[in-house]
Amino acid sequence: MAEKINKEVVDRFLLEQLDEWEQARNNFAALAGVKVKELDVDGMPVKVQFNPARIVSSSAKVDAKSLKERKCFLCAANRPAVQRGLEWGGHYTILINPFPIFPRHFTIPDNGHVDQLIDGRIADMVSLAADMKGYTVFYNGPKCGASAPDHMHFQAGNSDFLTIDAALEKADLQPLLVDGDGEAVLSVVQGLPLNMFVIDTTDADAAQRLFNKLYAAMPVPEGEKEPMMNLLCYVTEEDEALLVIIPRRAHRPSFYGTEGDDCMLLSPASVDMGGVFITPLEKDFNKLDADLIRRVYDELCLTDEQVEEIIDKL
Ligand SMILES: [Zn+2]
Repeated sequence: MAEKINKEVVDRFLLEQLDEWEQARNNFAALAGVKVKELDVDGMPVKVQFNPARIVSSSAKVDAKSLKERKCFLCAANRPAVQRGLEWGGHYTILINPFPIFPRHFTIPDNGHVDQLIDGRIADMVSLAADMKGYTVFYNGPKCGASAPDHMHFQAGNSDFLTIDAALEKADLQPLLVDGDGEAVLSVVQGLPLNMFVIDTTDADAAQRLFNKLYAAMPVPEGEKEPMMNLLCYVTEEDEALLVIIPRRAHRPSFYGTEGDDCMLLSPASVDMGGVFITPLEKDFNKLDADLIRRVYDELCLTDEQVEEIIDKL
């Protein structure tokens, strides 16, 4: 029998793994010393983290050929012997992330080596966030920051590290669809510098049903299997799950790169969209300001017209 998962169980598991795994322990310890600065982007609080260990992820080659040539680090057979896991939901495993962004950071792969696709997994995501209350569970689409787009996985980090909850409290939520007697409500978010939707729910299956309608209305870029998106899900003090859906239209900003003074090594994913930008290079950390972040949001997220088109299709 798998152990019932809750915050205490995963917190204890993290400490046990740090005790027995030196590389992970060093990487988590290094987080205490990373530089952080705080910005305000049109009323949205944003933190910028200088995290040199994340160079591996930010510059990850995720094209089909590179993926084929590397051993998948999320498959049980390729994981280091010291890395243990907690079973969850029948076919997922909770692992600590040895290259953390959060003070408490987990990766939760499916047990099968199957593509990173969200179709049919929203109820899992909401249930996982409920079991791990205190953590924000997030999902990066295959071209939206996932460094293993060939192996389905969620991640989770302690919620108090992100700023999305504070941003949403100040934002204006316009309800669009309701499931059942209000077990789940889909809203569009207004008043933030990036466009997003929210599903507010007390029922994982109701959230899945509403998400399916939104998913069907979102644009699918040519060559992609799904609409591009970042997702974040956390449970509020009122015991409601909030699923934040940030549709995307581009993988990386136009100024992504390592060469030239105008380039920056920024590969934004859910955490960045959730208000914490990760810069593996110090020069980028120093340069990143509210104007550049606004430009990242403008280039990567949907326009107001695209959001209107989605709403018209619902
Ligand atoms: Zn794999």
